[in-house]
Amino acid sequence: MYAHPGVKTDASLPVPETMKAWVLGDPEELKLVEKPVPVPKKAEVLVRVDAIAICATDLDVISSGPPAMIQGGAPFNKNFTPGHEYMGTVAALGPGVDEFRIGDRVTVEIHAGCGQCKRCRMGMYTSCLNYGLNYGDVDKGHRANGFTSDGGFAEFAVNNINTLIKISDEMSDEEATLVVTAGTSMYGLTELGGLIAGESVVVIGPGPIGLLGAAVAKALGASPVILTGTRDNRLKTGLELGADHVVNVTREDPVEAVRRLNGGKGVDYVIECSGAPSAINEAGRMLNRGGKMCLAAFPHDPALIDVAHLVRNNIYIYGIRGEGRSATHRAQAFMSAKRFDATKIHTHTFMMEDLPTALRYARDRVEDAIKVVVKMPRRAAEQELRKAS
Ligand SMILES: [Zn+2]
Ligand SMILES: [Zn+2]
Repeated sequence: MYAHPGVKTDASLPVPETMKAWVLGDPEELKLVEKPVPVPKKAEVLVRVDAIAICATDLDVISSGPPAMIQGGAPFNKNFTPGHEYMGTVAALGPGVDEFRIGDRVTVEIHAGCGQCKRCRMGMYTSCLNYGLNYGDVDKGHRANGFTSDGGFAEFAVNNINTLIKISDEMSDEEATLVVTAGTSMYGLTELGGLIAGESVVVIGPGPIGLLGAAVAKALGASPVILTGTRDNRLKTGLELGADHVVNVTREDPVEAVRRLNGGKGVDYVIECSGAPSAINEAGRMLNRGGKMCLAAFPHDPALIDVAHLVRNNIYIYGIRGEGRSATHRAQAFMSAKRFDATKIHTHTFMMEDLPTALRYARDRVEDAIKVVVKMPRRAAEQELRKAS
């Protein structure tokens, strides 16, 4: 029996004492193990994970470690469970929690900052100055699930209540896993000022954040929204999500094309989601004087930048880290209102025990995978049963 002082459970949703969880051994080595079900503390709940999407950052964590940081170091061989883009059902309440009920369907954002540093106090909890300090004598209570604390490639996960977003019954499990990705796109636009109705926006790079970036920009009223990339099928998805124009950069110079599509002028905002070494220079030349760019991706090596062009044109550059300032709540509101159909980026589904295959699909973009979602067998069986009855 799962019984802990001050923790509320309910017979309608029995919680076992142990659970199946994937843990990281050496780099690239994932093992499916039996682990104790974690216990929520004050301001935390236990979430039964129902579905989880795979993110490019998961692949980085599993192969090389950062940005994950466990007990002050690399996440390998520490019984650490990765995975951060999950949704599920509230299964137990920590002491004093009355913000949620057992049985609530929720999706999650990643970061619960420490709540006490300067950045957390400003609402910038994804930039918490105490990142990774959640152990031993240096415990500041920071949590970033799947990075500095256990994540969602498991049957259960503990979440701070500030990282939970209630979702409606109409939203499918698969769609709910995409809320945090849309939240990251929303955060980029928030940092750029957020008031983009009637303003021109370019999104560079039709990966998951770029595609949903085009969707969120459109939902916020931006016009025109121009998406650039190299693959026609992804650009087509961008059009379905709300981009007004797309540019295939293998066929057209992106700077010239953007100016042509924007009536001969530079645009007001660029969101850079490609990580290409040339992207900042391109973005700088797409912008009008005084324009702003947000960097949501980065090349792995340092890139050469034409600083003079940026300075002479009063170009603003913003970096974003994660999905801050409650942007995930705003993204969820748009998705609930069906302002765009995020499921267009969901391409593949696997069961939890097939996680290694799911990761391979995401890494190698097998069958042009964009977002790969992993479901729990228990949940899949439940849904089959409901369909049948
Ligand atoms: Zn992610
Ligand atoms: Zn903090």
